[in-house]
Amino acid sequence: MPLIAVTPCRTLTDYLESVRRAKGEPEALTLETPIADVLSRARGLLLTGGGDVDPALYGEAPHATFEPAEPGRDAFEIELVRAAVDADLPIFAICRGMQVLNVALGGTLVQDIPSMVNGALTHQVPEPRYALAHEVWVTKTSRLAALLKDGLEGGDTCQVNSRHHQAVKDVAPGWEVTATAPDGVIEAIEAPSKRFALAVQWHPENFWRTGEFRSLFEGFIAAARGEA
Ligand code: MN
Repeated sequence: MPLIAVTPCRTLTDYLESVRRAKGEPEALTLETPIADVLSRARGLLLTGGGDVDPALYGEAPHATFEPAEPGRDAFEIELVRAAVDADLPIFAICRGMQVLNVALGGTLVQDIPSMVNGALTHQVPEPRYALAHEVWVTKTSRLAALLKDGLEGGDTCQVNSRHHQAVKDVAPGWEVTATAPDGVIEAIEAPSKRFALAVQWHPENFWRTGEFRSLFEGFIAAARGEA
């Protein structure tokens, strides 16, 4: 089974189970794991959820709602993302993972959806963690749509959970928006030129028991095995 590096997170269990169910071997990193070690051993990188990316990293002062991630996590994940992208290591990024990936590669974030997006939907539905919160509209020609296929209503719509107050604003060069919520909030991006480079704003890992989004992990791990 391909080794999948999983970035440090306060709630790792669902990420690890999701990787296992899709027949990958997860390894939880620490902030002290050498980046070169990750790159030499792992066949895929899973970027997990968590607190906010320091807005200074994309040239902004912090909004009043800023809640930083663990000390050192921004720097660790940014270096890791850049190295993984350079090496074309398969990457799957979730929630904060999508945000830190976008910042690492030159993009920016909406710092606070409720106060900065007109007509914003509720993107903060904490419990249960698999509660469906809003729909997303998926680009039909995307890798995301190809992976979700039978899970899409009308070929391009599905319901997702949601626990975030930030989102991608300016998308990093080489990446494309592949899903949005009806209020315009970006819910997925991908880099078509890479072997597998997919990021989603919702939490597919919370569905490992019932399997609604297992195809995303299976696609990621197929790429990690060298099959995609
Ligand atoms: Mn959302």
